[in-house]
Amino acid sequence: MQVQVVENILKLNDELAGMNRQALRKSGVFTIDLLGGPGCGKTTLVERTVEMLSSEMKIAVIVGDLTTARDAERIAKFCPQTVQVNTGKGCHLEAHHVRQAMGKIDFSGVDLLIVENVGNLVCPVGFDLGQDVKVTMFCTTEGVDKPAKYPYAVDAADVVLLNKMDLLQYVQFEIEQFRSDVKRLKPAVEIIECSALKGDAGMKRWTGWIKERMAARK
Ligand code: MG
Ligand code: ZN
Repeated sequence: MQVQVVENILKLNDELAGMNRQALRKSGVFTIDLLGGPGCGKTTLVERTVEMLSSEMKIAVIVGDLTTARDAERIAKFCPQTVQVNTGKGCHLEAHHVRQAMGKIDFSGVDLLIVENVGNLVCPVGFDLGQDVKVTMFCTTEGVDKPAKYPYAVDAADVVLLNKMDLLQYVQFEIEQFRSDVKRLKPAVEIIECSALKGDAGMKRWTGWIKERMAARK
């Protein structure tokens, strides 16, 4: 019984995600699903990304959180088309959340949609939102063991970000261990080490990666 219920939820989600994908592609929008644990710097990454790319393209943002509109308020300073989704007790975004939020965005001329998922390395992996790419973000302050403990978040990722590189010298984080764990789980995946707060060379690589992927899809 239980298994059947879960299968039905995922099937419905996949159908809605397919509709999102179709609508976004028709509008010429490239969509990123950004996932990572709480406090790894997702919102700061979105702020900086929008700041760095907004002279070249039109961007919209959907941000998921249980309560509060704090992230959306931060991002809206850089991106007027920012929509907050409150999931209540829900610990991840589902395709229907994104679909509702999409209804509040004017997609004319929009090139890039960034969806900041709820801070969680477990269930956002299993829910298709209609994105083109999934990005998994880790950081140097959360401990080196996270990729090994959350292997599905690595496996689902089109690129892995390691944020808070500016703090590397202050924390116990064996970066070679991180790199080898990620490569063991997904040999071909690119790892981008960056500081979203400082806007370093890694951030240039990240925005470059987005532009490459957008160009490759066209
Ligand atoms: Mg956030
Ligand atoms: Zn969840």
